[in-house]
Amino acid sequence: AWGGRCFRKHVSTSASRAQSCMSAWVIDQFGTNEMLRYSEDIPVPTITSSSQVMIQVHAASLNPLDVSMRAGYGAKLLKLRKDPFSTMDDGSGFPLILGRDVSGVVVDCGSEVAHFVPGDEVWAAVPPWKQGSLAEFVNLTEFEVSHKPKCLSHMEAASIPYVASTALSALVNAGGLCRDSSLNKRVLITGGSGGVGTFAIQLAKAWGAHVTVTCSQNAEGLVRGLGADEVVDYTAEDAADHLEMMERFDVILDGVGGDTEEWAVGLLKPWSGAKYVTLVTPLLFKTDSLGLVDGLVDAGSNLGTKVIQNIISNGIFYRWGFYAPDGPALDEVSKLVDTGKILPVVEAQFAFSQVPQAFQKLESGHARGKTVVSVT
Ligand code: NDP
Repeated sequence: AWGGRCFRKHVSTSASRAQSCMSAWVIDQFGTNEMLRYSEDIPVPTITSSSQVMIQVHAASLNPLDVSMRAGYGAKLLKLRKDPFSTMDDGSGFPLILGRDVSGVVVDCGSEVAHFVPGDEVWAAVPPWKQGSLAEFVNLTEFEVSHKPKCLSHMEAASIPYVASTALSALVNAGGLCRDSSLNKRVLITGGSGGVGTFAIQLAKAWGAHVTVTCSQNAEGLVRGLGADEVVDYTAEDAADHLEMMERFDVILDGVGGDTEEWAVGLLKPWSGAKYVTLVTPLLFKTDSLGLVDGLVDAGSNLGTKVIQNIISNGIFYRWGFYAPDGPALDEVSKLVDTGKILPVVEAQFAFSQVPQAFQKLESGHARGKTVVSVT
């Protein structure tokens, strides 16, 4: 639907708009911010399956993954997921549109779409194997889309879907928590001041968990405001002692990675079903550097070894957490937002003309919530 020349697209809104090309920020090769190119000649996506929903993007947000994908991270595995039989014209997937979050309005639907009609305000996390949301229009399947919380603007709403889908998948599928099983569970969230962390704190609190967060000292006010019960400044000399002295945890959600697991696993309750879930996995790095087969084998063996070591030595479940597309899960988040239990945390806002500056902001690190882009 994306390659080839521009064509006329009739969008079945009440306004009955016809349009052939759209504006988007694209890359034509992997690299630095210099690769970002604004174009008004990107073909508008068409509905190609009965379950597709076409969304006019009002706001998008950026995630660390966008910076990594701009540089080629995950290209091999994502291309396999996007185009398993290598049917794309040139096999490259360029021009590639980044941007993983969308808040916007439905403008067209496939014939079997049951939950959405043109005019609905929706939000979604765009899977990394699909064209992204830094564009006027994006196509998703119905399962990936959800009705946007009524109380949020598009800019606020765009700050939530990708981090929410990640935190939910990690805490529920890997961490074994859910709305009905989290009361008084002790949860440690590392990297609590970033996009995933600021959402995960609020979700765990909404489910009744006791939440401890690691972050820089200047983010303490932010994470406490979101509900964190205890906060540890990881830059302080006594941070490790502070954590060691605390009651042990049932679940750790690690958004920092690196050597964190070396000390964090020991903070879990042994032999009690406690789980360490890291979001920073070597999977895509390995498939990029070693190739698909060797990379998958290497990453799988790395995971297998850690799973076995942790279960044998202290009865801890070691797991990787991943983003997973899930519109129905976003419906639940929407209710939590509309009842005031989850707030958007927008740190920086950029106009559509300022996408390179938005990437620069993200790359400078030290996020305190999300960076959002106004698209239309
Ligand atoms: P952000 O960049 O939004 O946030 C990272 C936060 O961590 C910042 O607030 C930063 O602030 C803080 N931080 C940095 N170092 C430490 C440290 N040692 N201890 C505690 N806090 C620290 O990232 P996201 O929240 O969006 O994502 C977190 C991680 O999860 C990223 O590595 C991302 O790539 C990964 N991820 C993985 C997914 C998957 O599917 N596996 C999906 C989504 C995210 P400061 O430096 O000021 O302390």
